[in-house]
Amino acid sequence: MTAGSVEERESLRPLDLLKYDGPLYVKNLGGTKIVHDDNKGNQLILGPNGSDSDLAMLPLDVARNPGFQKIWRAGQVLVSKDEEMEEALRIVEKNIIQQEKTRAEGIQAQVQPSANTKSVTPTDCLAGGCTQKVYQNAQQAANTPPLCPVHQGRASEYIMTVTQAEDGTDKTVWTSIG
Ligand SMILES: [Zn+2]
Repeated sequence: MTAGSVEERESLRPLDLLKYDGPLYVKNLGGTKIVHDDNKGNQLILGPNGSDSDLAMLPLDVARNPGFQKIWRAGQVLVSKDEEMEEALRIVEKNIIQQEKTRAEGIQAQVQPSANTKSVTPTDCLAGGCTQKVYQNAQQAANTPPLCPVHQGRASEYIMTVTQAEDGTDKTVWTSIG
């Protein structure tokens, strides 16, 4: 690694946030998708490292969230204020727009309802000791931790990691950060 690399020059540590409130960028260094939602409107979605969505703007509130700081300290993400990241991000956004265009064209060409979005699988409520079953469709399961109505207020205490199962489907694991 050369002395001029982005990693060495501009990478930040959680403590650096105490004296910084400008724009932040985050890059996923791991092989799993990272989704972080604090249920206050701050959402971060990062594709696996090497994918064209492994870089994103980092909302300051997410950067300050203890759950996010845990994966930050663990070295799973690189946080930077470097303008080079901003330039890279513009290229990422261009790719995403192109992808969505391609996807929309594909949907037009082949209207086929996905079985995944309709299936509702009962899951145990995440809250410790709770025996309630939670019913979520695939879209809800990809965005919201399975919590019964009593425990729904605890959603921000969980962080989601999505890994690819052997059959190619996404496998979602919720971890408590409390
Ligand atoms: Zn519950």
